[in-house]
Amino acid sequence: MPNIVILGTGMAGCGAAYRLHGEGITPTMFDENSYHGGKTASFRYESGFLFDVGPHISYTKDPRIQELFAESVEQQYETLQVYLNNYWRGYWPQHPVQLHLHGLPEDVIIKVISDFAKECHQPERPVANYEDWLLTSFGNSFAELFPMQYTRKYHTTDAKNLTTDWLGPRVYRPSLEEVLRGAISPSAPQIHYITHFRYPTQGGFVSYLKKFVPLGRLNLNHKVTSIDPKAQLVTFANGNVVGYDGVVSSIPLPDLIPMIEGVPADVVEASRRLACSTCVLVNIGINREDISKAHCTYFYDEDICFSRLGFPHMLAASNAPAGMGSIQAEVYFSQKYKPFTGVPEDLIERVITDLRRCGILRDTDQIICRKAMLLRYANVIFDQDRAAALRTVHGYLDEVGISYCGRYGDWGYMWTDESFKSGENAAQKVLGRLAAYGDSRLTGEARLNIKTTADASA
Ligand SMILES: Cc1cc2nc3c(=O)[nH]c(=O)nc-3n(C[C@H](O)[C@H](O)[C@H](O)COP(=O)(O)OP(=O)(O)OC[C@H]3O[C@@H](n4cnc5c(N)ncnc54)[C@H](O)[C@@H]3O)c2cc1C
Repeated sequence: MPNIVILGTGMAGCGAAYRLHGEGITPTMFDENSYHGGKTASFRYESGFLFDVGPHISYTKDPRIQELFAESVEQQYETLQVYLNNYWRGYWPQHPVQLHLHGLPEDVIIKVISDFAKECHQPERPVANYEDWLLTSFGNSFAELFPMQYTRKYHTTDAKNLTTDWLGPRVYRPSLEEVLRGAISPSAPQIHYITHFRYPTQGGFVSYLKKFVPLGRLNLNHKVTSIDPKAQLVTFANGNVVGYDGVVSSIPLPDLIPMIEGVPADVVEASRRLACSTCVLVNIGINREDISKAHCTYFYDEDICFSRLGFPHMLAASNAPAGMGSIQAEVYFSQKYKPFTGVPEDLIERVITDLRRCGILRDTDQIICRKAMLLRYANVIFDQDRAAALRTVHGYLDEVGISYCGRYGDWGYMWTDESFKSGENAAQKVLGRLAAYGDSRLTGEARLNIKTTADASA
């Protein structure tokens, strides 16, 4: 069997293991953590509350991935209709706000609609960045009061510093009629790219990996410190060194690149220009479950420290002790634009204060669980540096034969299903390379598949 190593055991690493398993290959998987799953890990605290590493739900529309995830949890999953809302200066509009102005102060509604109508009659203007896109899509008032504020909180930089190539279906661009309907009626439709989602009944989101992790030889507590692509060796912080015939990496690019022996200075410099947010997650468990009607709430006000709240007990009853409820707050920073200094626990009291200010927590609530955790890499920031820096970094990795994948290898705004598929594609690339070198250890079937895939892409 060719010796293929997978660095990282999140969705992307698991996608790679699954693809290799399909060819009869058992890869060796490494992770720096003492647990598998990366961003899709789940933790149950002694108090009985379970939290994922950030709010995780599965809304993939790909039937193959739906089926694979369902098999992983032996068909034991919840299917829920999504309900989202927003908090803005004491008001709780439904999501997306642009379709639900009803109930906001009259002056705000009038300004938003008149600016929106004015914008509808403007000739098309060039859009150089996300700020332009927001202004032309919504008019000044709405853009400035809502998404531009949110951008500063969530992406940690101004909208004018961002491109628009990450948008996809994420921000809904309404017609004037839709805006008017939502301003007049309290029951305008919720339009969102997610309508329903699935979540494992037991064990949290990480249960979706059950099927895949056993497909590789798992090595936890193995932090990669260097990779020698010429000698095909990976070295770990614990002193272990392993050789490889092929390597798939889901390690974040700004960490991966400086580890590669012989990497040129301009590639290291490009990797430093890649920006990503850092997230402090504050996990709170209380003695009451009727906390919110929404699965997730977006917070626009800049004097409230969190950008989003999720309520894990609403995803599966097993996520909290009976009759109790849980809240997960996301507070964003980034090394490039808003560095986080301190320890995650510093934010617990601040989050609790803000939860009380907006009325989510009541004075009578008993807080049973209060924890914090740091995600050094959260959301890729699509700033103006990203595209060029990424071309340099990916070009180099292709040259030295390191197959990158996942949210922080592809360096995209990818959901779990996309990260899984990215891992499969990266494994396919490794197989392709081995086949090109005529690796006799690949099975006849594997060689056939590789040829077919190559032919198909040609
Ligand atoms: C706050 C938040 C909420 C999200 N919500 C959703 C959602 O609701 N639905 C959805 O579909 N997607 C969601 N996503 C996206 C989803 O988390 C990602 O697409 C996916 O989990 C990324 O998987 P990955 O394997 O690419 O990366 P990761 O899960 O980060 O895996 C990378 C792995 O590499 C390991 N690693 C890193 N450095 C080293 C090293 N030096 N040595 C060894 N190992 C190393 C890490 O420990 C980790 O296990 C969310 C993401 C965030 C941040």
